Amino acid sequence: MKLLRYGPSGQERPGLLDSDGVIRDLSGVIGDIGPDTITPEGLAKLAALDASSLPPVGETGRIGTPLTGIGKFIAVGLNYSDHAIESGMAIPKEPILFTKATSCIVGPNDPIVLPADATKADWEVELGFVIGKPARYVNEADALDYVAGYVLINDVSERQFQLERGSQWDKGKGCDTFGPIGPYLVTKDEIPDPQVLGAWLDVDGKRMQTGNTNTMIFGVANLVAYISRFITLLPGDVVTTGTPPGVGFGMKPPVYLKGGEVITLGIDGLGEQRQEVRAFTDGFWETYPA
Ligand code: ZN
Repeated sequence: MKLLRYGPSGQERPGLLDSDGVIRDLSGVIGDIGPDTITPEGLAKLAALDASSLPPVGETGRIGTPLTGIGKFIAVGLNYSDHAIESGMAIPKEPILFTKATSCIVGPNDPIVLPADATKADWEVELGFVIGKPARYVNEADALDYVAGYVLINDVSERQFQLERGSQWDKGKGCDTFGPIGPYLVTKDEIPDPQVLGAWLDVDGKRMQTGNTNTMIFGVANLVAYISRFITLLPGDVVTTGTPPGVGFGMKPPVYLKGGEVITLGIDGLGEQRQEVRAFTDGFWETYPA
């Protein structure tokens, strides 16, 4: 299943994309898509529906994040060997974890607003996974049982905040609008192997990133098991698994985002995103839906 939410920010309605590409309204079945509805039981209930009996949605308008109530947004750094090399950093022996503030989460096609002092804003196409049941000290062999499905993520980053302002990376990763997720939560039955997915990202139509999850250092199952030894993962938590090569920071000379540019990105089976980049302007946040 491809689950999604559509409508203005804060007023999204639940839906699903049927096998003919028609968006169907789920609001007669569930109140919203969130931690309670993406458990194994919740997803089994949705999978049993006859999609053709659900009302089609004529005009969806904005697409929101495919689930609400994301409790934790955990990210993995330098998880592709070729990206570690382009970043000039050592290939990690254990997964590097950091958090993205959940307040950075936006819909897949919402604008990215550069922070006031941003000079080195950058892009990162990533495979994300969504937890469907509590995971604590799980074995790698069982780890995918805890995954509800997969999402496309742009791990937008400000490299000066991330790397030149002291402490760890979070300052450059959690800025408002730096976490587009969606368009779909694709349940794992549609992605039998998450380690064979092609990924790409363009800026103004120019291909910047081309990669495949088959070059990840720590795969999805490994990450679920690893993280669960430190942090209990709960339904609705999202983990974004690192980016393949081709980020602006790794180019010679480096290239960073500017207001007016358009980012498009996609991963096999997970759909595509499109974001307009906006320069910071005083007063913008007063008008922005929280
Ligand atoms: Zn990343």
